[in-house]
Amino acid sequence: MTETSAANRPLRIAIVGAGPAGIYAADALMKSDVDVSIDLYERMPAPFGLIRYGVAPDHPRIKGIITALHKVLDKPQVRLLGNIDYGADINLAELQRFYDAVIFSTGANADRALTVPGIDLDGSYGAADFVSWYDGHPDVPRNWPLDAEKVAVLGVGNVALDVARVLAKTGDELLPTEIPPNVYEGLKANKALEVHVFGRRGPAQAKFTPLELRELDHSPNIEVIVDPEDIDYDEGSEAARRHSKQVDMVCNTIEQWAIRDVGDRPHKLFLHFFESPAEVAGQDGKVAGLRTERTQLDGTGNVKGTGEFRDWDVQAIYRAVGYLSQNIPQLPFDDQAGTVPNEAGRVLSDDTAEDPAQRYLPATYVTGWIKRGPVGLIGHTKGDANETIACLLDDAPNFTPAAEPEPDAVTKWLEDKGIPFTTWAGWYRLDAHERSLGEPQGRERVKVVEREDMLRASEPGKV
Ligand SMILES: Cc1cc2nc3c(=O)[nH]c(=O)nc-3n(C[C@H](O)[C@H](O)[C@H](O)COP(=O)(O)OP(=O)(O)OC[C@H]3O[C@@H](n4cnc5c(N)ncnc54)[C@H](O)[C@@H]3O)c2cc1C
Repeated sequence: MTETSAANRPLRIAIVGAGPAGIYAADALMKSDVDVSIDLYERMPAPFGLIRYGVAPDHPRIKGIITALHKVLDKPQVRLLGNIDYGADINLAELQRFYDAVIFSTGANADRALTVPGIDLDGSYGAADFVSWYDGHPDVPRNWPLDAEKVAVLGVGNVALDVARVLAKTGDELLPTEIPPNVYEGLKANKALEVHVFGRRGPAQAKFTPLELRELDHSPNIEVIVDPEDIDYDEGSEAARRHSKQVDMVCNTIEQWAIRDVGDRPHKLFLHFFESPAEVAGQDGKVAGLRTERTQLDGTGNVKGTGEFRDWDVQAIYRAVGYLSQNIPQLPFDDQAGTVPNEAGRVLSDDTAEDPAQRYLPATYVTGWIKRGPVGLIGHTKGDANETIACLLDDAPNFTPAAEPEPDAVTKWLEDKGIPFTTWAGWYRLDAHERSLGEPQGRERVKVVEREDMLRASEPGKV
């Protein structure tokens, strides 16, 4: 075992945020040669972050990553303390009383702003809110208005694809997934016949991954349509295709769609390139159309406006231009990047100082999307966690030992404060309950949405 300042007992670590980044951090700690005891704090009653509340319900293979993460949380060195909101229920000084070090892995759950006139009209939605709705997040409204026949999705990344695909599929197509009853009812009433996805730049600049893009075409209800005029490459684009197999595959798929005949599947999903949102038209306070400016490549892969405008008859707009993290109380925050300023996971307190004691907040770390911004797949958070944990273990010999490191001290404190927290055993119960709800319909699970219902199902003998 490596020497630490608390060598005669396990190193006590709090991880705030039980998404993939936090769980991979716990895994990396347990795989090290240091004796550790970890508490994983989570705002939701259930763990797994955006795998549960971001990944689309029709992506069961990705949701299945939970199975691997389960094995980490099954280990005796780690405890889940769910339904605890850092900032509201517990603060940094309180955590420092009970732990030798604190890692934040709070991810991202809000939409990056898009400044276009009219963007705040009724009928203009953030993708993150819509995703939270269809993934059964307890903190968003239960009903989603899906009465628009023509819908615009702004953005050309995988989240835009998820949103467009869910809007273009039928409720019955999504029924075999884990969607809760209110989401099925909402999607069944969806009137969308046309979904228009808009990108400012060209196919070579789209942020889609090839597999997720091709999946659009697998639905018997979705006709994917690309205008051949939207296929254009400059030197910068050609270089991007040469350097990245992914970019080349995405371009090839889009080209194939542009040259084929349009079929007769009932819902049309248009992928538009070189259209920059210029204004959202409104009527009676509601979205009544979208104006875009045609753009053209400038040689480097960037685009410039042409001064030519087009009007699109749409009644709803979804902004899928990126997620954004929220600031974490008591930590520095870079509003522009939406991250906690850090070096390899060590939280910076004064980046002009050379002495590590002044340069970094003591024994405080970040990992995952809060560390490097809301880009990248679940797998990327593993590398992040390894880097952060390597720093933490290097620093461990100099940690100030926690005043109350016994695991019971913090749970007693939470109980005394009247904070009803969930546990790993509680997740087992909620998981079994959700599976039992799905079983009669031959579905793997049906999600429980209400927080109170989740809490009840997590308690022994309550469902
Ligand atoms: C819509 C969408 C679809 C995606 N689809 C895929 C996909 O198909 N495949 C793929 O590989 N990747 C996908 N991703 C990316 C993937 O979800 C991220 O890479 C990954 O979830 C980031 O992990 P994280 O742990 O940093 O953040 P998160 O997953 O956001 O986890 C952070 C956790 O911290 C908790 N938390 C936040 N604040 C607090 C607080 N104050 N107190 C306590 N807990 C808190 C949150 O509740 C959450 O559980 C998708 C992302 C989005 C947004």
